[in-house]
Amino acid sequence: MNRDENITRIRERTEPWDIVVIGGGATGVGCALDAASRGYDVLLLEQHDFGKGTSSRSTKLIHGGVRYLRQANISLVREALKERGILLRNAPHVVHTQEFIVPCYGWLEKAFYGLGLKIYDLLAGRYSIGKSRILSPEETLERLPPLRTQGLVGGVLYHDGQFDDTRLLIDMAQTASSNSACLVNYARARSFIRDAEKIAGVEFEDTETGVLHTVAANAVINATGALCDAVRQLSDSSAKPVVTFAQGSHIVLDRSFLPSNAAVMIPKTSDGRVLFCIPWHEHVLVGTTDTPVDSASLEPEALDAEIEFILETAGEYLTTKPTRADIRSAFAGIRPLVSRSDVSNTASLSRSHEMFVDASGLITITGGKWTTYRRMAEEAVNKAASTAGLRPVECVTETLTITPHVAEPGEQLHPGFPYTVTNVVEAVRNEMARTVEDVLARRTRALFLNARVAIEIAPRVAKIMAVELGKDEDWIANQLTDFGDLAERYFARPT
Ligand SMILES: Cc1cc2nc3c(=O)[nH]c(=O)nc-3n(C[C@H](O)[C@H](O)[C@H](O)COP(=O)(O)OP(=O)(O)OC[C@H]3O[C@@H](n4cnc5c(N)ncnc54)[C@H](O)[C@@H]3O)c2cc1C
Repeated sequence: MNRDENITRIRERTEPWDIVVIGGGATGVGCALDAASRGYDVLLLEQHDFGKGTSSRSTKLIHGGVRYLRQANISLVREALKERGILLRNAPHVVHTQEFIVPCYGWLEKAFYGLGLKIYDLLAGRYSIGKSRILSPEETLERLPPLRTQGLVGGVLYHDGQFDDTRLLIDMAQTASSNSACLVNYARARSFIRDAEKIAGVEFEDTETGVLHTVAANAVINATGALCDAVRQLSDSSAKPVVTFAQGSHIVLDRSFLPSNAAVMIPKTSDGRVLFCIPWHEHVLVGTTDTPVDSASLEPEALDAEIEFILETAGEYLTTKPTRADIRSAFAGIRPLVSRSDVSNTASLSRSHEMFVDASGLITITGGKWTTYRRMAEEAVNKAASTAGLRPVECVTETLTITPHVAEPGEQLHPGFPYTVTNVVEAVRNEMARTVEDVLARRTRALFLNARVAIEIAPRVAKIMAVELGKDEDWIANQLTDFGDLAERYFARPT
């Protein structure tokens, strides 16, 4: 993936693209991958970096969603369990099976979750990744030593998938690219070109240079997640909003809070959600919340109340109660929830995806889950092909292997992290990293794992990048100021 080459490719192209995709999160990159692997000419435009939106801020689960089972959303669970199986097969280098334990402090709840998770197993059918089973208190503690013992009557063990969201995203982008998709980050769609009433192209701004480009397109897919209404309104200024927003926050702790291979699933929190404590990159990821918010920002911040809630809930289950001072990083993401009416309880809104086609032919696909991106992409590309009259080609992503990222060895940037100087060089040369943030937040996960360490290693990363990109001392200084300001937002300062 080379940004300069792709900009040149765009400039030199005289034919319309079969499909232009707006948005470089899981849904958009999934669409680009689907379209390119069918042989369509596809261009993807991302206004910031790939994964800057919600797709870098997930709970890192490839799952059917035990919570949706409780809401009796059987079709969503079944579809997601199938996609979980497909992803484990197509991207085994980045998605793996994770053991989860639901700790039980009452016999009734043990029977309830034991039965519920058997249904979860059954719904997976041939995509099952391991049977659930009931554990005695001793077996539960053997697997999860840091669990509160008082009142423990056992646990229920089940399996789900776990992954690194932006690693998978960048690998999907690489796979799309090797199938001839043209992907560009820092490219913001600003308006649509029309032929009579129909959309015939997109005008976008290269936000690195300020240059405007116009591209012709037979079909346009709006995959801008929580920001999709703003893009719909570029096409039809009177379009009514279709998404509402719910923020979800996570905290990251040292591994000492959960020094086991199994993850904890707390099945019922006071706001009616579930809370996970999951081993992730030698740390523990704890979350999430469901807080209605009025607008969608690309850089939302974990709220004090959310952090307190996560600490308090996790503290009820763990022998060592985490405090604010233990938090290495706190991050938040915005869920685009498709809604057609006013709602106050966002936790009850469906996580299913929705597709809309407006009078101009703009196809919007939003909602859903990371886990179901492939299915969403298949539907959106089918629709694009039929809307634009493209030659029909079957979707092939069900059996398409995602290009594995092979990390070359090199000098470590920090003793606490596996990331190396070589990773930084590769991120710039092959993965279109343009800023220190791109490297520390999404090509590596340093910012999400430990914001203070990320700030410590930023000067070294900036210097390596400046050599690769041909930038000067001013660029380094600006990058460090920007990254420092950003990383501050990931601290959960003691109040
Ligand atoms: C807290 C939280 C936890 C979650 N956990 C899980 C989980 O564990 N498992 C799971 O399966 N799902 C999970 N999800 C859901 C999942 O993360 C989302 O469904 C998915 O990431 C949405 O991807 P997207 O591509 O639709 O949106 P986004 O990732 O938000 O991507 C949209 C992109 O569009 C770009 N864009 C916007 N406007 C423009 C424009 N004008 N021009 C160009 N680009 C533009 C944005 O910059 C952005 O990068 C979670 C969600 C949240 C909020």
